Amino acid sequence: SIVVTGATGQLGRLVVDELLATVPAGSVAAVVRDKGKAADLAERGVELRIADYDRPETLAGAFRAGDRVLLISGSDVGRRVPQHAAVIDAAKAAGVAQLAYTGVLGGPEADFRLADEHQETERLILGSGLPYTLLRNGWYSENYTANLAPVLAHGTVVGNAADGRIASAARADYAAAAAAVLTGPAEEHLNRAYELSGDTAWSLEEYAAEVARRTGREIAYRNVPAAAHLEILTGAGVPALFAEILVDVDEAIGRGALAATSGDLSRLIGRPTTPIGETIAAALPSA
Ligand code: NDP
Repeated sequence: SIVVTGATGQLGRLVVDELLATVPAGSVAAVVRDKGKAADLAERGVELRIADYDRPETLAGAFRAGDRVLLISGSDVGRRVPQHAAVIDAAKAAGVAQLAYTGVLGGPEADFRLADEHQETERLILGSGLPYTLLRNGWYSENYTANLAPVLAHGTVVGNAADGRIASAARADYAAAAAAVLTGPAEEHLNRAYELSGDTAWSLEEYAAEVARRTGREIAYRNVPAAAHLEILTGAGVPALFAEILVDVDEAIGRGALAATSGDLSRLIGRPTTPIGETIAAALPSA
């Protein structure tokens, strides 16, 4: 089977959609922790395998010999290394044919805190000896467009990324790439790392200008020092630890850590990546 973990998440659902467009539903399995949340997947003919990254014993039945597996990285920052280790151990014990993993753009070179757990996970995957495919995902455009309300309310995009550029792509683009490596000829994708990012990198100033253009409002980018950005985020209710991570990411963006445009993503999906303007348009309240 083709097996997707995190299949009830935002990326996972898009991967399953892509798979169902090209392979029979009976050959797709979803590893989910909440059966109720996956009822629609079961209705579409996807096999459900119930397992929780936090409970290794539940992962014993999640994989079978010969499965092609996508491990979608977990969302509990700080807990992900043991969680991913449990999945890798279970995949190894089952003897899967391919373990694909959603890591971070730059892989071992990524120099920001959010990359640490991805780097450790990649080391565990390499150490397991399993045939692997590393999907080193750049930023999702939706990281920004999911947060348009305060931008529209204040007329500003705030950050500490200076004029750093971001080669973002839509979640759906990354999902299509994941589906491509799980369904394409395995020998093409095994034991390879892909640096996945959008075809075009943009700065936060350009992002603000694009939101302005599409709304007819005055919107500007306001670059602030890291400490001031941290205060603004925590003041807006972002938990301190997560705010620190966001400020750290912005600093890295300022150094160019998320700007690489290798073209791997558009090559894998056979089409250009979704321009940021399209993702902005899709997120704006319709007039
Ligand atoms: P979501 O939060 O929507 O999905 C995360 C998925 O992981 C969910 O399906 C969730 O299950 C599952 N999950 C979390 N913890 C466990 C666990 N203990 N056991 C089993 N499953 C678990 O995130 P996205 O789909 O948007 O993104 C996918 C991943 O990509 C994120 O988890 C994160 O690692 C990374 N990411 C990357 C970004 C980027 O810009 N490159 C931005 C944001 C995230 P459930 O549905 O039950 O909650």
